[in-house]
Amino acid sequence: MDPDNGGGFFNVRRDDPDGPERLAQYHADLRARVGDEVFDRIQRSRALGDSPRPLTDAQKEVLRQAVAPVLRDLEATGQTLPDIREEVHEDCGEDAVCAWIHHPGGGEGIRVWLNGSAAFQLYSLAEQLQSWKVDQLVDSGQGPWWPCCPQHPAGCRLEPDIDDEAAVWRCSRSGQVVAAIGSLRHPDPSVAARFEKMARREQRRSARTLRASR
Ligand SMILES: [Zn+2]
Repeated sequence: MDPDNGGGFFNVRRDDPDGPERLAQYHADLRARVGDEVFDRIQRSRALGDSPRPLTDAQKEVLRQAVAPVLRDLEATGQTLPDIREEVHEDCGEDAVCAWIHHPGGGEGIRVWLNGSAAFQLYSLAEQLQSWKVDQLVDSGQGPWWPCCPQHPAGCRLEPDIDDEAAVWRCSRSGQVVAAIGSLRHPDPSVAARFEKMARREQRRSARTLRASR
């Protein structure tokens, strides 16, 4: 592997030189090293990083529907939700809708893959949002346990997987499928009941809004 390339082309921007001539030389070297297609992509990503582009209405809808089950799992288990911005910060080609999780002083991209099964799309989002959540827990001095496994409450985490064409949470110790992604419950039954009630009310409200808009 080329040690200058850091293994991923989005890493290149960190060693950008100053000065127009050195920058031009750097770009020429980079283009020679990674090829035209990747180079153009880096340039487009850089431009989007500097001035993000809002998603189209259709892309927003795809994003909202795709992340909803994972947000529901975060909410049902009492976690804070990511601040998802409906804007593109990097060029991710035709195969994905990109969005951005904003955090104070930075953020990270998330991708909704369009070219696989619905199960794969959800599995992949669960993986991305789990990674965001785990970083957040660790940064605040907690253990990397989200979602907590109901079978082994101490130090076991559920991992996203695909089982029988469905996106599921699987216990990382026993390998057992614990729940469909989007159907986690809070370990405390009274909190779980309160959440269910809230979710049903929200469902009725959005069904009424949908009927009214037809
Ligand atoms: Zn477990």
